[in-house]
Amino acid sequence: MTSSLTRSTCPYCGVGCGITVHRTGTRNAMLAGDEAHPANRGRLCSKGSMLGETIGLEGRLLHPIVNGERVSWAQAINEVAARFSKTIRDHGPDSVAFYVSGQLLTEDYFVANKLMKGFIGSGNIDTNSRLCMSSAVAGHKRAFGEDVVPGCYEDFEEADLVVLVGSNTAWCHPILYQRLLAARARRGTRIIVIDPRRTPTCDEADLHLPIRPGADLRLFNALLCELADRGATNNDYVREHTIGMAQSLITARQDHASMSETAKACGISEAALETFITWFAQTPRAVTAFSMGINQSSSGVDQVNAIINCHLLTGRVGLPGMGPFSITGQPNAMGGREVGGLANQLAAHLDFTPSDCELLGRFWSVDRLACKPGLKAVDLFEAIHSDKIKALWVMATNPAVSLPDANRVRSALEKCEFVVLSDCMERTDTAQYADVLLPAAAWGEKEGTVTNSERRISRQRAFLDLPGEAKPDWQIICDIASAMGFQRGFAYGSPADIFREHAALSGFENGGRRVFDIGGLAHISDVEYDDIKPFQWPLAFDAASGTKRLFADGRFATPDQRACFVPVSEAQTDHVNTPDFPLMLNTGRTRDQWHTMSRTGLSATLSAHEVEPIADIHPEDGLAAKIDDGGLAILETPHGRGVFRARYCERQRKGSVFAPIHWSDVNAAQSVVGRLVHPVCDPISGQPAFKHSALRLKPARPFWKAFMLSSDMINVTKADYWSRSRIKGGYLHELAALDAAIPMPGLADYISCDLPAGEIVEMNDASQGVFRQARLEQGRLTHCLFATRAGTLPPRDWLVTLLDQNDLDEGKRRWLLAGRPAGEATGEGHLVCACMGVRSQKIIVAIEEGHLTNVREVGEATGAGTNCGSCRSDIRKLLDNMQKDAAA
Ligand code: SF4
Repeated sequence: MTSSLTRSTCPYCGVGCGITVHRTGTRNAMLAGDEAHPANRGRLCSKGSMLGETIGLEGRLLHPIVNGERVSWAQAINEVAARFSKTIRDHGPDSVAFYVSGQLLTEDYFVANKLMKGFIGSGNIDTNSRLCMSSAVAGHKRAFGEDVVPGCYEDFEEADLVVLVGSNTAWCHPILYQRLLAARARRGTRIIVIDPRRTPTCDEADLHLPIRPGADLRLFNALLCELADRGATNNDYVREHTIGMAQSLITARQDHASMSETAKACGISEAALETFITWFAQTPRAVTAFSMGINQSSSGVDQVNAIINCHLLTGRVGLPGMGPFSITGQPNAMGGREVGGLANQLAAHLDFTPSDCELLGRFWSVDRLACKPGLKAVDLFEAIHSDKIKALWVMATNPAVSLPDANRVRSALEKCEFVVLSDCMERTDTAQYADVLLPAAAWGEKEGTVTNSERRISRQRAFLDLPGEAKPDWQIICDIASAMGFQRGFAYGSPADIFREHAALSGFENGGRRVFDIGGLAHISDVEYDDIKPFQWPLAFDAASGTKRLFADGRFATPDQRACFVPVSEAQTDHVNTPDFPLMLNTGRTRDQWHTMSRTGLSATLSAHEVEPIADIHPEDGLAAKIDDGGLAILETPHGRGVFRARYCERQRKGSVFAPIHWSDVNAAQSVVGRLVHPVCDPISGQPAFKHSALRLKPARPFWKAFMLSSDMINVTKADYWSRSRIKGGYLHELAALDAAIPMPGLADYISCDLPAGEIVEMNDASQGVFRQARLEQGRLTHCLFATRAGTLPPRDWLVTLLDQNDLDEGKRRWLLAGRPAGEATGEGHLVCACMGVRSQKIIVAIEEGHLTNVREVGEATGAGTNCGSCRSDIRKLLDNMQKDAAA
């Protein structure tokens, strides 16, 4: 492994940004955005920028473990192969399943799918991408005949109107959002955001439609009708290139009696509805980009088709600056789609039709290829309860946290006779249920390809040595396949071997029948594979380069080459509010975390944005439930319960509560939001409706509350509410007792008895119920705990900085238990800009001293918001608050 420059791809969201890496030590590297990568052109968001903080070995799974004991790879492989083989022998191939991940590289995915569908002979492999974009897949197939995103990121820059539906692009796909904003500065692009929440994405919008949750279908049916009625139909296009328009219009009209009725049903003003329709009708260059708010619904597929219908009616598909655009959540959700990672697909965009099965069986020379779809994610775990699935292999994902009705998923994992988990992290919520843990390579240690939202295939490249006994996923899968007796199909020497087969299959007897075709790369050498530059598929055998846009000629992947309008109408909503559960739970991502925080949670910088699981609640809902702003709230649904820090938020739609998906039992006591989410799915795609679960709120009144800093990892006891977040030099824990029987703790309850005695300083005011304690070792603060029964606790930011200092001077020691520096009421404040490390106090001072009035000026003065820009809404909030205070 050399320290020369390595080009790789970010492992987080579906934007798929290129990264350059200079390794600077065994586990250290300097990272930057790759200016040569077409997705990001040198920029990275906060998550990508902080990847260097996450490549250490903290928490890594480094050795195979069977039944809690470290074993050799040979023992682990034999155990997994023997148990899977026996289960298949005794109960048939459909008694086993794989649950895989959009974190896998395409080569990993390819062999996992080949093993299950081709050699075991079952369709039971599904991916966590089911949770993020399977509705888009199904919608594409119904409309276009194949799962194809017609456009590219450049369309966001060439459009005059971009409609963002159910997508907090500013936080969840920041670099794409910044590209849009940069283009808008040049050409004045209009931006419309359709979202029940006023997310940071809305801050730059020309129009925000805060629609009633679940009303998207009705809104786009109204758009379809009005486009038709206002003469915006592209008649030639519809006649020559589509079918089904008339029926779709008839069906849509059932949802759209009048503008006023539709506006009322969608919960928006008629004027806003009129503006949306007028702008869309009058703007040929229009992109409609959609994400989880559309896909994660019990009518997600219909919603996707309602959007596509509008683009077909106007002939705006696959042309510069025009088209429907699905933004995927995961780095390789699209790659998984290419190789059959979904249970209802075969590899290379082949389907479970007799002819496709015959073709694939012949290509792989197998006679037991699965000939029917397998179980989709939610059904797959349910099938464990009904004894249909007896052995499960989970790869690179954490279903005990991320699936809906997570308590039931956990009981399924507990019940399952044999659970294998291959992962790079040792302690995840799912790991506790695994009989076998297999150490997998992490980002930076493995080689392969990923595909981003615009069909662009890029290389992920290794720049770190494999730690311990970790292996790349493809190798683990091939070893186990061989031990099961399938050596013939899995004798790959490298990811390049797998990629060549993947490319060859895509072109095999294709003849233009399947759009997904990278047959042009079927014979590349290892050197050429190492050197693959980012390109967009298709790249057929006779093509010189990849393909930016598809379907521009109006010829689609259907048998008659016409796109299909799909008649859709507003269905029953996902959630059923009852008097007992009058609110609605909406779940999603926060700015600086990724999935279940097993990686981004390692970064002190990223963790500083939100140090606790926070539920955003409209103030009126908070007051009605007698929950204080900043207090603790109990969120309850018919499926589960959680405790979150309440944050009053005017941006929430009244009646709707937002909670993050990131917290697990590893880093919080009672904040796995998946436990609360109902397992309702779209009937076609099987994608769970994460956005709409019936909910009620209750206040949680702690008998005491506390926070603790520790330089070491502590197993938190003596508190029934706690959260742990990474800070520089250690951890910050927020603690509270909801049970009166839990006594207020002291440091002795948490400090390991292996540590030397250290120096303890203490302040105890029993009459006020205030207790503060700190431990120092050789002048260095190692632990401190601040607790109170009814009072307030000081801000954490100054104390947090002390944990990272070697020798506390007398002044700091004297003020330690005050929790603030001498003479100052505040510390540095909360982290606003993760990329540039700018905290709120610096911004406040800059605004006051410089009389700054806008985000740009704050950026010029402090640097905040000048990189990925996803903190600009927070900066604006600070400006607004200060302007309000000044006016008061
Ligand atoms: Fe990674 Fe951020 Fe780019 Fe997404 S936008 S790929 S998280 S750097």
